[in-house]
Amino acid sequence: MAALRAEFTARFGGEPDGVWSAPGRLNLLGEYVDFNGGSCMPTPLPYRTLVAGRLRRDGVLHAESLQMAEHAEARIAEIAPGNVSGWFAYVGGVAWAMNQQGGADIALPAEFGADLLVDSTVPVGGGLSSSAALLSSTALALLELSCPLRAAAALVPLPVGGCGPDNDALRARLAAVSMDAENRVAGARTGGLDHTAALRSLPGEALVIDFRDLSIEAVRIDATGAGLKFLVIDTRAPHDLADGQYSSRRQACEDVTRAAGVENLRALLPAEIAFPELDAAAARTARHLVVEETLDRCVAEPSIRDSVGERTLRTWIRHVFTDMVLVERARALFVDRMPVTEATWAELGELFTESHASMRDDLGASRAELDVAVDTCLAEGALGARLVGGGFGGAVLALVEADRLNPTAQAVADAFAERGFVSPVFLPLAPGRPADRDA
Ligand code: ADP
Ligand code: MG
Repeated sequence: MAALRAEFTARFGGEPDGVWSAPGRLNLLGEYVDFNGGSCMPTPLPYRTLVAGRLRRDGVLHAESLQMAEHAEARIAEIAPGNVSGWFAYVGGVAWAMNQQGGADIALPAEFGADLLVDSTVPVGGGLSSSAALLSSTALALLELSCPLRAAAALVPLPVGGCGPDNDALRARLAAVSMDAENRVAGARTGGLDHTAALRSLPGEALVIDFRDLSIEAVRIDATGAGLKFLVIDTRAPHDLADGQYSSRRQACEDVTRAAGVENLRALLPAEIAFPELDAAAARTARHLVVEETLDRCVAEPSIRDSVGERTLRTWIRHVFTDMVLVERARALFVDRMPVTEATWAELGELFTESHASMRDDLGASRAELDVAVDTCLAEGALGARLVGGGFGGAVLALVEADRLNPTAQAVADAFAERGFVSPVFLPLAPGRPADRDA
């Protein structure tokens, strides 16, 4: 952070007024479920995006990033979907969305502007959500930088403590702002998982986010205490086709939701899908049954059948149902079935591997690098492994015995070298903390 402040001063000829930061996140379980009303289980990472900022009073937003060559500047009043591009669409998009969502506690004063300098340790495009880390830290920076101008502009001042972590209601709104900026200005159709994780997590805890109502529940998943480690493997495989592939799957979900006349796909599953009273094997069978029954029921209904009729569509929807039931089970394991035992961890690993099979076989969202990483981890004795994020590239998460961490990583590196894949990067998973003001 000291280096960023010094760089800010060198570039902009003066100290920043503050530095804000937000974490990347790792989603332990639940892909393609956030926009379908399911639950996800992200945990904040120690990798963060920092934004050093200084107030300007001329309505201009100027931004530079240590990760990007391109500098950008625009009048905030003129920023709109379609007229900002590249990485500045994320930063400018936040300012636009804050004004768009209107509320006098979030809108920016007319003469408000800022100089921003961004730096990050979150791998960009690695499925750990550098985008939400940038959006969330920018949202905090813009809102807090605007404080001195708010009273004169008849806008609501910030509460005591600013946008601090205690103010979950405000942070939930900033998560919505960030998602809006990403969807409508940056043009990436993400759900709310990344932004909620960056802004509303508790330090060192995973979050279960229920996307029916955006309620959150902190869950302690302390692998280290159990002699285990989460290993994150950034495969660095290019996300080619990722945008179109994600969009087509998302569109399929929206078509079925509309045809079924429900608010979201989660509403098609029964309320209770965790089977907390059953052991691992019985719960697995119950899960498969409930997913297949729900799919069959969909197909029996003519309006839905026409939208799920095609085989690929059906398997895509099956993946969404599968990951929904897997997350509910994981939540039940760590919340309802205390104490956590060896069997709990073994089952969590199995849930990971089951989710990967679903992403690979039903959603068709895997690729060779991801499968090789998962299969190698499992062959090395991992309790479970899965691709994380939207797929088609990005990272793999494995749950391994602590003393198997290095041999497993080595085996993956060897397997990649043997096949001529780009060398993977290994990221030890340590606890992170939510977005905050750092200085
Ligand atoms: P990820 O999985 O990392 O979120 P995305 O494609 O969603 O991948 O977001 C990556 C994009 O976010 C980058 O192409 C860039 O536009 C923007 N971005 C992320 N981090 C930074 C940064 N440190 N500086 C500038 N732009 C960034
Ligand atoms: Mg992203």
